[in-house]
Amino acid sequence: MNKYDLIVLGGGSGGLAAAQRASEYGARVIVIEPARLGGTCVNVGCVPKKVMWNAAQISQEIEDAADYGFNISQHGHDWPVLKQKRDAYVKRLNGIYQSNLEKKSIDLIQGRGKFVSAKEIETEYGDKVHAENILIATGGFPIVPEIPGANFGITSDGFFDLEEMPKRVGIIGSGYIAVELAGVLNALGSHVMQFLRYDSLLRSFEEKLGSHLLEHMRATGIEVINQAVPQSVQHEKGLALTMEDGRTFDNFDSLLWAIGRAPNTHFLTLKNAGVKVDDRGYIVVDRYQNTSTSGVYAVGDVTGKAQLTPVAIAAGRRLADRVFNAQPEKYLNYDIVPTVIFSHPPVGTVGQTEVEAVTSFGSDSVRVYTSEFVPMYNALTEHKPKTLMKLVTVGKEERVVGCHIIGAGADEMLQGFAVAISMGALKSDFDNTLAIHPTSAEELVTMR
Ligand SMILES: Cc1cc2nc3c(=O)[nH]c(=O)nc-3n(C[C@H](O)[C@H](O)[C@H](O)COP(=O)(O)OP(=O)(O)OC[C@H]3O[C@@H](n4cnc5c(N)ncnc54)[C@H](O)[C@@H]3O)c2cc1C
Repeated sequence: MNKYDLIVLGGGSGGLAAAQRASEYGARVIVIEPARLGGTCVNVGCVPKKVMWNAAQISQEIEDAADYGFNISQHGHDWPVLKQKRDAYVKRLNGIYQSNLEKKSIDLIQGRGKFVSAKEIETEYGDKVHAENILIATGGFPIVPEIPGANFGITSDGFFDLEEMPKRVGIIGSGYIAVELAGVLNALGSHVMQFLRYDSLLRSFEEKLGSHLLEHMRATGIEVINQAVPQSVQHEKGLALTMEDGRTFDNFDSLLWAIGRAPNTHFLTLKNAGVKVDDRGYIVVDRYQNTSTSGVYAVGDVTGKAQLTPVAIAAGRRLADRVFNAQPEKYLNYDIVPTVIFSHPPVGTVGQTEVEAVTSFGSDSVRVYTSEFVPMYNALTEHKPKTLMKLVTVGKEERVVGCHIIGAGADEMLQGFAVAISMGALKSDFDNTLAIHPTSAEELVTMR
């Protein structure tokens, strides 16, 4: 049997980051992965999604061009060309990941790993490997509801397989993946209906972001249906979706479930290693990414915490620093996680919402600053989306604990502010920083 210092289950964001860092410290590492290297982010997540978002942004800019004096006309959008180029880009990335493993002498087995014991993994092809340390980085998968006909629909994975633009699409969900895909499809020419279980979007984020986005989505032609709980799907008159309250919506050529994700643990036979999961099936870890079994760790989406690529990467690297480079106190602090939702317009958010700050510090300690304006770019355009910004501060010294933005440029604006907030910046530090004019970002240092 092959013996290693570290077996990594899953060649996605977290697994590859940990594998490479551990091998830099001299560990003998093997990665086990059943599919393409790069995991969700590279193959069916962040990367192809951002390509689609870029295309949607271009579509909006072409529409705005006439207001800037250009005499151009659109002759439609060629979805298959975009898909072909996007797929080729993703394939190049798969190749880069493969050669990075080779350069670092990390072994790779194609297959799905499962625990034989806490020190031994076997794949469905009978390969067996042994190590003192095993990392579970198997990510998650999109949930399909258990209702009749649900399999006629697709998920975000299926979205990236679409060979043609669906003309009429129903998206079920209110989280970030649902709003991102709705925005892309709408901008590229689909008729989009989005179904919400309740009445709001992005419910785990600062409240104003979701309500502002909902207004934008409706204004740009997305039909948003509230209080819609699907009961069944029929394959007649295209696809039809019937709700629990009896309403039926039909004629869809695509229905897309974006109702959440679940951890990829079903094949792992975790009980053979004594690894505990929580009531939703996520692997339980402490702050050092240790599972309930010594020598078995977990990072990334499979732990259910802040399910984002940079989080999985950072947790994986810190784990390797700790286990293979004698840095016993190295761990990832999940308190301040910046993130962007690539909706139209985009949302950038870091730190606490107003409600969270009030809960943690009491309402007397919290002071909030907001600004709402039409960006200068849109002064000339017919389309006038507003930007909204909110800073949440706490205490007499007004430490900034949250920054929430919806509007053009939010995606690129946030990273620098996340540095400032991570360093404990005060509102006075924001005020003392000279503005960059004319930008939207300058509003964040001129709020009163
Ligand atoms: C549509 C979409 C858009 C997203 N957009 C963003 C974004 O813009 N920004 C962002 O930060 N995050 C985004 N994410 C989230 C991001 O993709 C994940 O947080 C990230 O990929 C998690 O990394 P991971 O290593 O935990 O898991 P993954 O990247 O999912 O990797 C897990 C790997 O494990 C493999 N595996 C599964 N079972 C086994 C097994 N038994 N044995 C061996 N291997 C196994 C899988 O095949 C997979 O390759 C997006 C996700 C989706 C679905």
